[in-house]
Amino acid sequence: NYRCRSAFKLMEMDDKYKILKPGDMVLDCGAAPGSWTQVAVERTNAAGKQERAPQGAVFSIDLLHFHAVPGATIFGGMDFTTSLAQQRLRESLAGRQVNCVMSDMAPNATGVRMLDQESITNLCYEVLRFALAMSAHGANLVVKIWDNGDVPKLERDIQTYYEKVKRVKPRASRGDSAEHFLLARGFKGFPPAPT
Ligand code: SAM
Repeated sequence: NYRCRSAFKLMEMDDKYKILKPGDMVLDCGAAPGSWTQVAVERTNAAGKQERAPQGAVFSIDLLHFHAVPGATIFGGMDFTTSLAQQRLRESLAGRQVNCVMSDMAPNATGVRMLDQESITNLCYEVLRFALAMSAHGANLVVKIWDNGDVPKLERDIQTYYEKVKRVKPRASRGDSAEHFLLARGFKGFPPAPT
């Protein structure tokens, strides 16, 4: 049983694009109430239920407090955009690199379209910056966006660092017209500095 319907969005994206596998280290940003975390724990074998498969790990953060998900490390009541939160995450990763960074974070909508879109885009850049610092070669990234004029630039910026970037709209998000995900696969690391 999943804690919310959002679970189906992630399952649909993972079924199609294979972004999670047993043994992966995953960071889930904006994780409350925890349904993406539940899916990530299952698919990375973070609770160790599949005996023959490698065991992954899931780290989940949200502004809100939420119930533990067996197999995941939860950071509740923390703002991902703060350096304190990112430092805590870095500490618990303890030098291990992440294979998939995902964000279903959404700002509290003010109702002013332009402001809301700017805040979600800023959240995406915050996630991208952290992902670039913490990701393993070949890692994946999924960020939620609301369709707006800044998305093509964000998409190009992500493209610099990943093999493939796609704009995806899972069937489960149909009800929410502006909602899309940018799904990037194959983290390349940093491009060589210009000489
Ligand atoms: N993926 C979740 C699930 O499947 O259960 C649902 C996530 S919900 C759509 C978006 C979440 O983003 C909210 O719980 C909200 O508190 C969180 N959020 C928004 N801004 C945040 C921030 N700066 N840091 C951490 N979480 C944030």
